[in-house]
Amino acid sequence: MFRVMDKIEQRIAQAQLSSEELARYSRHLILPEIGVEGQRRLKAARVLCIGAGGLGSPAALYLASAGVGTIGLIDSDDVDLTNLHRQILHGTKDVGRSKLKSAHDRLHDANPNIEIELHNGRFTSENAQDLVGRYDIVVDGSDNFPTRYLSNDVCVWARKPNVYGSVFRFDGQSTVFAPHLSGPCYRCLFPEPPPAGSVPNCAEAGVLGVLPGIIGMIQATEAIKLILGTGEPLVGRLLHYDALKMKFREFNLKRDPECPVCGEKPTITSPIDYEQFCGMNAGVEAPLSGAATAIPAISVSDLKHKIDQKNRVVILDVREKFEYEIARIEGSQLIPLDELPERISELDPNAEIVALCHTGMRSARAVQFLQGHGYKRSFNLAGGIDAWAHEIDPTMQKY
Ligand SMILES: [Zn+2]
Repeated sequence: MFRVMDKIEQRIAQAQLSSEELARYSRHLILPEIGVEGQRRLKAARVLCIGAGGLGSPAALYLASAGVGTIGLIDSDDVDLTNLHRQILHGTKDVGRSKLKSAHDRLHDANPNIEIELHNGRFTSENAQDLVGRYDIVVDGSDNFPTRYLSNDVCVWARKPNVYGSVFRFDGQSTVFAPHLSGPCYRCLFPEPPPAGSVPNCAEAGVLGVLPGIIGMIQATEAIKLILGTGEPLVGRLLHYDALKMKFREFNLKRDPECPVCGEKPTITSPIDYEQFCGMNAGVEAPLSGAATAIPAISVSDLKHKIDQKNRVVILDVREKFEYEIARIEGSQLIPLDELPERISELDPNAEIVALCHTGMRSARAVQFLQGHGYKRSFNLAGGIDAWAHEIDPTMQKY
């Protein structure tokens, strides 16, 4: 049996269970591994969920239902129609509401005995240490690299377990980062972030709706085990799940003694600029880093200006047909990316071409291809049609 949290021991004395709670948790109480003492530990525990989205939804729902006494949620988004196929905290009636308010209502309905602490905003270098300091465990449901590095670093410094999960298309993975329990941290595995733009997010790559459900529930299971001090946590092990093959695989993880955060001679001991570290501040003129920075790009406002000035410009849409049917820029020409090699002759090599896709990654590859075939006046539309819908035409359907 391991004990991961010192402060929780002091809170357990106050965590008495009412007769309603004894009935509510009766299926827990008859488990010898939980019992009344374990249920009081759960009630005394404080868990911070970063994000109330795909992973945070099932994680927070099960933590609430299981009787984790205090759940903190941090998120800055509103509920969007495109969230609903996987973010089961929210319903159709919640579209347009803040995710925090929607999550609060659903969690309070699941279990009115618990405290729900809402932190409206983003998890940043400014607030991360204060927030993490107030909780026993962090469940990281974030979907971007700056937040993952930040939550990792802050949890290492605060000696708090960081329950990690990530999803991509049909694959997901989970582990518990906890150097104070002899496991590695996120940086031991990934010392450097991937080049900005090289890893597509859910909006660009897609994700099976049920996938974050499974991974988020694994995160909730690990958090509950850590609180109870029972079973074997996913410390030093990465669990990989392939939904198409329906296979789980496990990889052993090792701590890196040279790790800049949890290693023997740490060089990073306070929050850094994580956006810059992950290359997210490249700006619209250079949305991709590394080798891809050579790809010329223009902003949506520049394209709007060209259209308004009636400049001759070919707007090449390289998305799939169904995406084109959801939303398109008037007058644009559709050639899906994988058809571009065989249909390149439909384009005038001397024309000015602005290629676009959903968020600018497929179109960057299209521009690279066009440039390599003599189409020297081809440009990538930074941010894609998503940026157009946000900045130029708010009436456009987003997806
Ligand atoms: Zn490390």
